[in-house]
Amino acid sequence: MQQVSDSQLPPTLIKKLQDCRTLPSLPAIVVSILELARTPTAGTLELANLVAKDPSLSAKLLAAANSAFYAGSELKTLQQAVNRIGMEGALSLSLSFGLAFRGTRDSNGMDLDNFWKRALISGMVVRELQRLMNLRFDVETTYLAAVLQDIGMLALNEMDPDIYGVIYHSARSHRQLASFEEREYGTNHTQVGHWLCSRWGLPEKYTLPLLNSHQLPKEIDKTNAAQRVLALSGLMADPWLSSNQEMAMTLAYQASQDYLQMDERQFSHLLLHLQDKLPDIARLFEIKAPAQIDTFNLLQEAKHLLVERNLRMMQKLAQQQQEIDELRRNSEKLQEQLKKDPLTGIFNRQYTEKELQQHFMAIQQSGGSLAVVFIDLDYFKTLNDQYGHALGDSALKAFATALEQELESGCIAGRYGGEEFVALLPGFNQDEALAFARRLQEHLASTPLLSHNKEDIYVSASMGIAVQQLRDNAQPVFADADELVSAADQAMYNAKRTGRNRILLFTSGGQSQDLSENS
Ligand code: GH3
Ligand code: MG
Ligand code: MG
Repeated sequence: MQQVSDSQLPPTLIKKLQDCRTLPSLPAIVVSILELARTPTAGTLELANLVAKDPSLSAKLLAAANSAFYAGSELKTLQQAVNRIGMEGALSLSLSFGLAFRGTRDSNGMDLDNFWKRALISGMVVRELQRLMNLRFDVETTYLAAVLQDIGMLALNEMDPDIYGVIYHSARSHRQLASFEEREYGTNHTQVGHWLCSRWGLPEKYTLPLLNSHQLPKEIDKTNAAQRVLALSGLMADPWLSSNQEMAMTLAYQASQDYLQMDERQFSHLLLHLQDKLPDIARLFEIKAPAQIDTFNLLQEAKHLLVERNLRMMQKLAQQQQEIDELRRNSEKLQEQLKKDPLTGIFNRQYTEKELQQHFMAIQQSGGSLAVVFIDLDYFKTLNDQYGHALGDSALKAFATALEQELESGCIAGRYGGEEFVALLPGFNQDEALAFARRLQEHLASTPLLSHNKEDIYVSASMGIAVQQLRDNAQPVFADADELVSAADQAMYNAKRTGRNRILLFTSGGQSQDLSENS
């Protein structure tokens, strides 16, 4: 067991802790009670005999049995007291007495008075919660875990008082303290406390809960009331101890809802019960009772702060949602833009090639046909030279519009380069592709792309068609999409060579068949 706990602390820290001569230790009487508790046959009679050897502890246990900790009529004898509080109760109380009465170091370190108050109030919280909320859990074990939950702080403070004092005093909350400890020592006081208590030989049922005393509500099983109560206990003590009472109360109120689904009435009852019993318990442990707090006003303030915080959080969430929506819209727009050619607004080469690959693969798998028409505008350089580059740009845009007008649904067209375009016609055979090309050719012949100083400007195009046909047991001509598009390009090139404004069909063997009306 010792090894398990050791291994969770950095080895250098273990060495430093072991070298510290003033680590808190178990009072001798507690060691004896622990031994007795391990004897299966031991009962409360043996326990009373053992405690009786320590008059001061006997008096305290009797007082404790008659205190606000336990309900019932007044008891007169130690035996009655031990019967009431039981073996576990005697163990947990004598351990808390024994530790609380240790001489306190006067150093630059942490505020020891505050430390013990937190331990004792946490213990009270455990007992009160069980009564108030009617929870089912082992009170004595959880009480002891609550009292011991921060014992690791005491060890760190003894080992390294100057630095620990700085850490302790600069933390604004208990959770922040733990994160400062992590940064300085590579671990926090829950682990150190577990290590220390394991070293004392305390059974695991007391030491293991210590490891989880900082667990968040969502980390604790719904049915584990003991662990939920323990995690809440320290936070419940803080309104009496923190220099920022409003913040401590707000954290406690929120935690009471998150850990135990307490409502406001239950929470304020708990506050009132604790406030009521604090002086009695402080007297029992011979510490100065913490100053009374204004529970009513603090709770109102806490509620107010929580409402504000929730509002702020909701506003922030709404704002974040808006930002996310806008980002999504922008990203969709960007995705669309990435497909488009900036000048003409039709698809760019990259996207057209992607589509080409996909359509090619699709017919490879399920059959069908795919026609590609490669289009290159004729004498475009001359157009630029004659009318200027800006007009050339407008002509390219107008051509793209004309091209899209002639496309049937399911077909796409993209700009491949300067004045080169490619149309993809899925499902088209040669005749259908030719019909499309002719329509485009006629469009260009009958409709000027632009007019310039009242002069109509017509532009013709040379086109090459290649078709991959995987229908009716036809043999595939092209091994891949690149071959298909190169074939269309080659046919287009032959159209240029043979006079322009022509439509040529690629035929296997590298020949092109002239299909133009005007050929
Ligand atoms: P051919 O009939 O042989 O195709 O002759 P061509 O002049 O059309 O072909 P060539 O390849 O010699 O020249 C292409 C011209 O297209 C040259 C270039 O300035 C023009 N061009 C390419 N991209 C753009 C563009 O974005 N805007 C403009 N205005 N012109 C462009
Ligand atoms: Mg060219
Ligand atoms: Mg050209």
